[in-house]
Amino acid sequence: MKILVLNCGSSSAKFAVIDASTGEERLSGIAQRLGSPSASLDWKFAGQKRSKVLHHAEHGAALREVGELLNEVGLAKEIAGVGHRVVHGGAKFSGSIPITSEVVAKIEECIPLGPLHNPPNLLGIQIAQDLFPDLPQVAIFDTAFHQTMPPRAYLYAVPYEWFEKYEVRRYGFHGTSHRYVSQQAVRQLGLDPEDHAIVTAHLGNGCSLAAVRDGKSMDTTMGLTPLDGVVMGTRSGSIDPSIIAHMKKALHRSADDVMDALNKRSGLLGISGLSNDMRTLQEAADQGHARAALAIDKFCYSVAKAAAGMIVSLGRVDALVFTGGIGENAVQVRARIVELLGFAGFALDPHVNQTHGKAQRGRITRSTSPMAAVIATNEELMIAMDTAEIIGRGEKVAAA
Ligand code: ADP
Repeated sequence: MKILVLNCGSSSAKFAVIDASTGEERLSGIAQRLGSPSASLDWKFAGQKRSKVLHHAEHGAALREVGELLNEVGLAKEIAGVGHRVVHGGAKFSGSIPITSEVVAKIEECIPLGPLHNPPNLLGIQIAQDLFPDLPQVAIFDTAFHQTMPPRAYLYAVPYEWFEKYEVRRYGFHGTSHRYVSQQAVRQLGLDPEDHAIVTAHLGNGCSLAAVRDGKSMDTTMGLTPLDGVVMGTRSGSIDPSIIAHMKKALHRSADDVMDALNKRSGLLGISGLSNDMRTLQEAADQGHARAALAIDKFCYSVAKAAAGMIVSLGRVDALVFTGGIGENAVQVRARIVELLGFAGFALDPHVNQTHGKAQRGRITRSTSPMAAVIATNEELMIAMDTAEIIGRGEKVAAA
C-alpha cells in the first residue's frame, strides 16, 4: 500500500511516497524557503534528482505542485492515504489516529504547547484534505510514543496546579524515531519482544534519548518542548532556569530574546562559536580549534550522563541504540559516549564502530559487553506503516 507522507514546517514541506509493505521509497522531496523569492521544489524519483523554482509559493501552491508531480510520475492513482507528521499532541493522543474534525480541533488545542510546529502541521492537513478529498488522512504525533511514561518521569517538580491547569509536564518528542529504532533493535539484535530494556539516542540537529521497556517509553530527555534534555546543535538542553532571569536582567532583554538564544544560539554552536554541525566541528577540532573540541566533549558527556539516567529508568540495559545524523555517522562521538558508559560494562569494538557495525547487524560493542548498536532511523517509513495499518483496519471495518 503506497502512502503519501507529509511533514509541513513553517517554511518547508517534506514529502515522500512510500510503499508501507516493502519500505520502498518511490518518491521523496522537499518544498523549501516557502513564501520567499527563492522558494523551490526538489525531488528524487527513480534515482534522479530534479528541481523546480516556485517563485514566492506558499504551502498551498507548493503542495499543489506536489499533487501535479504525483500525476506526472504516475503515482497519484496508487496512493491509498496521507500520513501527516504532527509535532505536539499534548496528552490528548497516545497513538496515530485517522484525522476527523474532532482530531483537528484537538490538534488546535495543542497549539499553545507547540506554537511553532502545530500551525504549519495543521495547514498541511487542511491543504491535503482539499487536494486529496477522497484519500484517508492520518495524524502521527512526535509526542504519542511517550504517553506511557509514569508520573515520576513526566512530572516536573513545580506547583502541581501548573500541571493540572496549564498542562506543564514532560511530553517528549522524536517519538516516531524512538519507536522505530527500538522495534528494529528488537529484531536486529535478537532481543525478547516481551522483555527488553533499550536506551535509544536520537542524535541529529535536535537530540533526545528515551528509555524503552518492552516496547513502551518509560522516560525521555525532551520535555514540555524540544528545548529540554541533552546538548543539541543550537539548543542548550536542560539548564538552570535561573539563567533566564539572570540573562534577562544582564542583557536588558525580554524573556523571548533569551529563549531565542537558548533555542538558536546555544548547544554545539553556542560553545564552539563556530557551527552547529558536528562534521564541521570535528574537522575544526582535528585542526586544533579548542572550543570546537570542547563543544564535542560537552556533547558526549551530556549524552552519556543522560543515557546513564535512562538506565536508571529501565533498571537494566540490554542495548544502547545510536541513531540520527550524528548517531549514525559520527564514529568518534559514539566511541566517546560508549567509553564514558564503561562503568556500566560497555566496551566498544573500535573496528566495527568504524564501519557503523554494518557487518554485525549494527552492533558496535564487544561480545562480553551490553550491546550498543547503530540503527538508521526512518520516521517516514514509520508514518507510512502507521497510516497503512489504520487504513487497513478501516477497510476491514467497512467490509464487515
Ligand atoms: P535533523 O535533526 O535536522 O534531521 P540529522 O539527523 O540529519 O538532522 O543530523 C544532522 C547532524 O548529523 C549534523 O550535526 C551533522 O553534522 C551530523 N552528521 C551527518 N553526517 C555526519 C558524519 N559523517 N560525521 C559526523 N557527523 C555527521
